[in-house]
Amino acid sequence: MNDTADADAAADPRDADGGGDAASGGQPPLEVENLRKTFGGITAVDGATFSVEEGTLTGLIGPNGAGKSTTFNCITGVHEPTAGAVRFQGEDITGLETHDIANRGLVRTFQIARELEEMTVLENMMLAPQGQLGERFFHSVLPGLRSRVVGEEEELLEQVWQQLEFFEIDHLAEEYAGNLSGGQRKLLEMARALMTDPELVLLDEPLAGVNPTLEEKLLDRIHELRERGNTFLLVEHDMDVIMNNCERVIVMHQGQVLAEGPPEAVTENEQVIEAYLGGDVE
Ligand code: ADP
Ligand code: MG
Repeated sequence: MNDTADADAAADPRDADGGGDAASGGQPPLEVENLRKTFGGITAVDGATFSVEEGTLTGLIGPNGAGKSTTFNCITGVHEPTAGAVRFQGEDITGLETHDIANRGLVRTFQIARELEEMTVLENMMLAPQGQLGERFFHSVLPGLRSRVVGEEEELLEQVWQQLEFFEIDHLAEEYAGNLSGGQRKLLEMARALMTDPELVLLDEPLAGVNPTLEEKLLDRIHELRERGNTFLLVEHDMDVIMNNCERVIVMHQGQVLAEGPPEAVTENEQVIEAYLGGDVE
């Protein structure tokens, strides 16, 4: 997964604690600086600055309308930021196309598009690498892609099966995506995102509508991937999930970052309690 870093470490162990190598030093993989996004008169993101540390499961929380999804969309090229900068592994990726960003190893999950509901789980997975082209583009090229993928090599198919087995949805391979339960859909969405072997995965409410059994399965998969070296940024409204699973939390409110730190510290922050948690904190 992180071949470059491993190779560097093997070649010269003295570099392991960061010898000034910009790409694999102690630098956080994701740095967001003064990010701003307006839609007409609405300011969705208003100067957000934060970073995500390597190998962490970091939570991004905040009340509805705080700007979390827009932030994700600006990071992954779905929206072009109005101002500010996004850096991934030290490189400026601000305003790049979704597929370009995905090729560098930064992806977000996408909801299964209507066209994909009429395809099987297996077909969805075969199309996943191209799905990272971005939804709008994807829709326009989908018919051509489908015929191209039909004769695709065994290598891709093998990778697809591995991913399906990992997420324990291999028994659903021939099922139409439109027939999946909410939780199975979320597993498929994650399995699709993982097809490009990304470094950093952004998950926007991956547990919404997921039953407790599948929720546990999804969280287990995330932890397992994290142990293998992936980094995750997770938007989730269930504070128990955040407290029990994230080592760091970023709190957004009205398009800005209100607090950042370990979950215990963040939930004790007066501003956070006032803005977000209200009287819910015990
Ligand atoms: P969150 O994900 O934290 O609930 P969003 O990023 O979805 O927040 O939304 C932040 C604000 O931006 C909201 O006021 C929302 O209505 C607005 N907004 C989000 N996307 C758009 C859009 N495409 N056009 C206009 N306003 C938008
Ligand atoms: Mg949202």
